[in-house]
Amino acid sequence: MLRLALLLVLWTAPLKAACTPRDFLTIPLPAGGDPVATALEIAYPGSTVNGAAIVTPDGAAIPFAPARDISAQDRLDGATIGDMFVYAYPIAFDLDARMQPYFDPGRVRNEVFFRALYADRESAARATLVAVAYDGQTVQTGFNVTTRNCVDTQLAAALTALALSSPLYDVFFDQSGGSFNWRVIAGTDRQSSHSFGAAIDLNTELGGYWRWSGRPEGDAGPYDNKMPTELVAAFERYGFIWGGKWHHYDGMHFEYRPELILYARLTRQ
Ligand SMILES: [Zn+2]
Repeated sequence: MLRLALLLVLWTAPLKAACTPRDFLTIPLPAGGDPVATALEIAYPGSTVNGAAIVTPDGAAIPFAPARDISAQDRLDGATIGDMFVYAYPIAFDLDARMQPYFDPGRVRNEVFFRALYADRESAARATLVAVAYDGQTVQTGFNVTTRNCVDTQLAAALTALALSSPLYDVFFDQSGGSFNWRVIAGTDRQSSHSFGAAIDLNTELGGYWRWSGRPEGDAGPYDNKMPTELVAAFERYGFIWGGKWHHYDGMHFEYRPELILYARLTRQ
């Protein structure tokens, strides 16, 4: 019986690639090469830049096109791979850079690429989800995220580090805004990163959202931040960027985009 159980375990194990948490603030980086290609290949193992295309682990080939000199709105509406790196994500806790209109590192996404990396339709995305727990002293909650690209493992590492380090972080996980949700971004026809199970929202009361301010796109104005620097840094360490650093701020929003953290390190920003 034990042997049968073991066989079953071995049989089912290959369904999910083994993931171990990676620390993107300290992971060794190669010298030289194209920093965009290097950042993407390290961020999403199994992806390779092959001439004029980036090929995902599933074999999808997306044009590896450079950034273009176009309007900020056009870049949001239809980004090339290169366009995603036009605004360098500040690893330091810098809320000054976001005062530049449209300084939104991470909000620019090549949707074809992310659909190929994660899922192209809701049912496929749902099939990859698992619940990752935040187990604080006073707040216990969970987030449904994807197992693809080891997002669940990376999120678990960040949430465990925060829950163990201080009970003061509990309040930010109270009344969390959710995680998986197959939808477009409000006011746009662009697919939200929540659709892929690669983003979570913390306490909606403690993270402001530019649309709720009533200000127009391109002039989002000041952001009254309540997120602790150490909380943001813990997420960034495990590959999640923070929407509080965007001009169009989304202070509750954390999204798995390790390529932006790696790119900032490779270009020493
Ligand atoms: Zn969000």
